[in-house]
Amino acid sequence: VAAFQPDAGESLVEAWARAESRYSAGPYAGSSIPNELRTVDGSNGVAITAPHAVGHFRDGVRKRADRFTGSLAEVLAAASGSSALVLAGSGPGDANWDESHPLKDALLGLLPNHGVIVDLHGMRDSHGSDVCVGRGRLPDSSGSAAVADAVLACCRAAGLIVSVDRPFDARRPQTVTSFAQAHGAAAAQVEIAARLRSPHAEPEAARRLLGALLAAIARLGR
Ligand SMILES: [Zn+2]
Repeated sequence: VAAFQPDAGESLVEAWARAESRYSAGPYAGSSIPNELRTVDGSNGVAITAPHAVGHFRDGVRKRADRFTGSLAEVLAAASGSSALVLAGSGPGDANWDESHPLKDALLGLLPNHGVIVDLHGMRDSHGSDVCVGRGRLPDSSGSAAVADAVLACCRAAGLIVSVDRPFDARRPQTVTSFAQAHGAAAAQVEIAARLRSPHAEPEAARRLLGALLAAIARLGR
Protein backbone atom coordinates (compact mmCIF):
# COMPACT_ATOMS: atom_id res chain seq x y z
CA VAL A 1 0.00 0.00 0.00
CA ALA A 2 1.31 3.42 -0.88
CA ALA A 3 2.53 5.45 2.07
CA PHE A 4 1.01 8.75 3.03
CA GLN A 5 2.52 11.82 1.39
CA PRO A 6 2.14 15.22 3.03
CA ASP A 7 0.96 17.95 0.65
CA ALA A 8 3.05 21.04 0.07
CA GLY A 9 1.96 23.89 2.34
CA GLU A 10 0.01 21.61 4.64
CA SER A 11 0.83 21.73 8.37
CA LEU A 12 1.67 18.47 10.12
CA VAL A 13 -1.56 18.73 12.11
CA GLU A 14 -3.54 19.12 8.88
CA ALA A 15 -1.66 16.19 7.37
CA TRP A 16 -2.40 14.09 10.45
CA ALA A 17 -6.12 14.88 10.25
CA ARG A 18 -6.24 14.08 6.54
CA ALA A 19 -4.26 10.84 6.79
CA GLU A 20 -6.81 9.29 9.15
CA SER A 21 -9.45 8.89 6.43
CA ARG A 22 -7.84 5.68 5.19
CA TYR A 23 -8.23 4.13 8.65
CA SER A 24 -11.64 5.52 9.62
CA ALA A 25 -13.37 4.00 6.57
CA GLY A 26 -15.64 1.13 7.29
CA PRO A 27 -15.92 2.49 10.07
CA TYR A 28 -12.42 1.70 11.26
CA ALA A 29 -12.08 -1.37 9.12
CA GLY A 30 -9.51 0.52 7.09
CA SER A 31 -8.61 -1.26 3.86
CA SER A 32 -10.72 -4.20 2.70
CA ILE A 33 -7.81 -6.63 2.95
CA PRO A 34 -7.71 -8.38 6.36
CA ASN A 35 -4.57 -7.58 8.35
CA GLU A 36 -3.12 -5.55 5.52
CA LEU A 37 -0.08 -3.65 6.73
CA ARG A 38 1.06 -0.20 5.64
CA THR A 39 4.74 0.61 5.81
CA VAL A 40 6.84 3.73 5.47
CA ASP A 41 10.51 3.20 4.75
CA GLY A 42 12.82 5.51 6.65
CA SER A 43 16.55 5.50 7.23
CA ASN A 44 17.14 6.79 10.77
CA GLY A 45 16.88 3.39 12.46
CA VAL A 46 13.61 4.18 14.24
CA ALA A 47 10.38 2.30 13.45
CA ILE A 48 7.03 3.63 14.67
CA THR A 49 4.32 0.99 14.99
CA ALA A 50 0.55 1.32 15.31
CA PRO A 51 -0.95 -2.16 15.71
CA HIS A 52 -4.40 -0.88 16.72
CA ALA A 53 -4.88 1.75 13.99
CA VAL A 54 -8.06 -0.03 12.88
CA GLY A 55 -10.49 -2.34 14.65
CA HIS A 56 -9.02 -5.70 15.66
CA PHE A 57 -9.99 -8.90 17.45
CA ARG A 58 -8.76 -9.81 20.92
CA ASP A 59 -9.71 -13.38 21.76
CA GLY A 60 -12.39 -13.17 19.07
CA VAL A 61 -14.01 -9.98 20.40
CA ARG A 62 -13.82 -6.89 18.22
CA LYS A 63 -11.93 -4.07 19.88
CA ARG A 64 -12.28 -0.49 18.77
CA ALA A 65 -9.42 1.16 16.96
CA ASP A 66 -6.92 3.41 18.71
CA ARG A 67 -8.06 6.32 16.59
CA PHE A 68 -5.54 8.60 14.89
CA THR A 69 -2.59 6.35 15.79
CA GLY A 70 -2.05 4.93 12.29
CA SER A 71 -2.11 8.37 10.74
CA LEU A 72 0.14 9.65 13.53
CA ALA A 73 2.71 6.94 12.83
CA GLU A 74 2.70 7.80 9.13
CA VAL A 75 3.01 11.55 9.64
CA LEU A 76 5.76 11.18 12.26
CA ALA A 77 7.69 8.84 9.97
CA ALA A 78 7.37 11.14 6.97
CA ALA A 79 8.49 14.16 9.01
CA SER A 80 11.42 12.47 10.76
CA GLY A 81 12.87 9.98 8.31
CA SER A 82 11.68 7.07 10.44
CA SER A 83 9.97 3.93 9.26
CA ALA A 84 6.37 3.13 10.15
CA LEU A 85 4.50 -0.16 10.37
CA VAL A 86 0.74 0.16 10.74
CA LEU A 87 -2.25 -2.19 10.76
CA ALA A 88 -4.19 -0.82 7.78
CA GLY A 89 -6.88 -3.48 7.42
CA SER A 90 -8.99 -4.92 10.22
CA GLY A 91 -8.45 -8.66 10.61
CA PRO A 92 -8.34 -11.55 13.06
CA GLY A 93 -6.02 -11.32 16.04
CA ASP A 94 -4.29 -8.55 17.95
CA ALA A 95 -0.59 -7.89 17.45
CA ASN A 96 -0.29 -6.48 20.98
CA TRP A 97 -1.97 -9.49 22.60
CA ASP A 98 -1.34 -12.61 20.53
CA GLU A 99 1.87 -14.61 20.36
CA SER A 100 1.95 -14.38 16.58
CA HIS A 101 0.46 -11.87 14.16
CA PRO A 102 1.40 -10.68 10.65
CA LEU A 103 2.49 -7.34 12.11
CA LYS A 104 5.00 -9.13 14.34
CA ASP A 105 6.32 -11.06 11.34
CA ALA A 106 6.82 -7.78 9.51
CA LEU A 107 8.44 -6.20 12.55
CA LEU A 108 10.96 -9.04 12.72
CA GLY A 109 11.93 -8.18 9.16
CA LEU A 110 12.54 -4.56 10.17
CA LEU A 111 14.61 -5.24 13.28
CA PRO A 112 17.98 -5.77 11.57
CA ASN A 113 17.88 -2.15 10.37
CA HIS A 114 15.82 -0.61 13.16
CA GLY A 115 17.23 -0.65 16.66
CA VAL A 116 14.51 1.55 18.13
CA ILE A 117 10.79 0.74 18.19
CA VAL A 118 8.15 3.23 19.37
CA ASP A 119 4.76 1.52 19.66
CA LEU A 120 1.81 3.95 19.53
CA HIS A 121 -1.55 3.36 21.22
CA GLY A 122 -4.58 5.33 22.31
CA MET A 123 -6.06 5.50 25.82
CA ARG A 124 -9.05 7.22 27.37
CA ASP A 125 -8.76 10.71 28.80
CA SER A 126 -10.02 9.41 32.15
CA HIS A 127 -6.68 7.81 33.02
CA GLY A 128 -5.42 11.29 33.83
CA SER A 129 -2.10 11.55 32.05
CA ASP A 130 -1.68 12.86 28.51
CA VAL A 131 0.92 10.24 27.65
CA CYS A 132 1.68 6.97 29.46
CA VAL A 133 4.96 5.28 28.62
CA GLY A 134 4.90 1.52 29.12
CA ARG A 135 8.39 0.16 29.51
CA GLY A 136 7.70 -3.46 28.59
CA ARG A 137 9.12 -6.74 29.85
CA LEU A 138 12.79 -5.73 29.65
CA PRO A 139 12.86 -2.02 30.51
CA ASP A 140 16.62 -1.97 31.10
CA SER A 141 17.58 -3.95 28.00
CA SER A 142 19.58 -2.63 25.06
CA GLY A 143 18.64 1.02 25.20
CA SER A 144 14.97 0.66 26.09
CA ALA A 145 15.40 3.01 29.05
CA ALA A 146 16.71 5.66 26.67
CA VAL A 147 13.59 5.35 24.52
CA ALA A 148 11.28 5.75 27.50
CA ASP A 149 13.38 8.62 28.88
CA ALA A 150 13.42 10.51 25.56
CA VAL A 151 9.65 10.30 25.15
CA LEU A 152 9.04 11.29 28.77
CA ALA A 153 11.50 14.20 28.72
CA CYS A 154 10.22 15.62 25.42
CA CYS A 155 6.58 15.30 26.48
CA ARG A 156 7.32 17.01 29.80
CA ALA A 157 9.17 19.78 27.97
CA ALA A 158 6.06 20.32 25.84
CA GLY A 159 3.97 20.73 28.99
CA LEU A 160 2.27 17.36 28.75
CA ILE A 161 1.35 15.27 31.81
CA VAL A 162 3.15 11.94 31.67
CA SER A 163 3.02 8.68 33.57
CA VAL A 164 5.30 5.65 33.58
CA ASP A 165 3.81 2.14 33.46
CA ARG A 166 0.54 3.36 34.97
CA PRO A 167 -1.94 2.26 33.95
CA PHE A 168 -0.26 0.50 30.99
CA ASP A 169 3.12 -1.15 31.54
CA ALA A 170 3.26 -3.30 28.35
CA ARG A 171 4.86 -6.04 30.45
CA ARG A 172 2.98 -8.96 28.92
CA PRO A 173 5.49 -10.89 26.81
CA GLN A 174 3.11 -10.67 23.83
CA THR A 175 3.09 -6.88 23.57
CA VAL A 176 4.84 -5.37 20.58
CA THR A 177 7.20 -3.64 23.00
CA SER A 178 8.18 -6.81 24.89
CA PHE A 179 8.45 -8.71 21.60
CA ALA A 180 10.84 -6.14 20.15
CA GLN A 181 12.87 -6.07 23.36
CA ALA A 182 13.12 -9.87 23.39
CA HIS A 183 14.58 -9.65 19.87
CA GLY A 184 17.25 -7.18 20.91
CA ALA A 185 15.64 -3.85 20.02
CA ALA A 186 15.17 -0.83 22.26
CA ALA A 187 11.44 -0.27 22.63
CA ALA A 188 8.72 1.52 24.55
CA GLN A 189 4.94 1.67 24.34
CA VAL A 190 3.40 5.13 24.10
CA GLU A 191 -0.26 5.43 25.11
CA ILE A 192 -1.80 8.75 24.11
CA ALA A 193 -4.95 10.23 25.65
CA ALA A 194 -7.86 10.88 23.29
CA ARG A 195 -7.71 14.64 23.86
CA LEU A 196 -4.31 14.73 22.18
CA ARG A 197 -5.51 12.67 19.22
CA SER A 198 -8.07 15.11 17.85
CA PRO A 199 -6.23 17.08 15.17
CA HIS A 200 -9.58 18.37 13.78
CA ALA A 201 -11.14 19.49 17.07
CA GLU A 202 -8.04 20.25 19.18
CA PRO A 203 -5.27 21.23 16.77
CA GLU A 204 -3.16 22.98 19.41
CA ALA A 205 -3.00 19.88 21.61
CA ALA A 206 -2.24 17.79 18.54
CA ARG A 207 0.55 20.17 17.55
CA ARG A 208 2.16 19.89 20.99
CA LEU A 209 2.06 16.12 20.88
CA LEU A 210 3.58 16.03 17.38
CA GLY A 211 6.36 18.37 18.46
CA ALA A 212 7.14 16.31 21.56
CA LEU A 213 7.27 13.01 19.69
CA LEU A 214 9.36 14.46 16.85
CA ALA A 215 11.85 15.80 19.40
CA ALA A 216 12.06 12.38 21.05
CA ILE A 217 12.58 10.63 17.71
CA ALA A 218 15.29 13.12 16.80
CA ARG A 219 17.16 12.10 19.98
CA LEU A 220 16.78 8.41 19.22
CA GLY A 221 17.47 8.29 15.49
CA ARG A 222 20.89 7.89 13.98
ZN1 LIG B 1 -3.82 -0.12 21.65
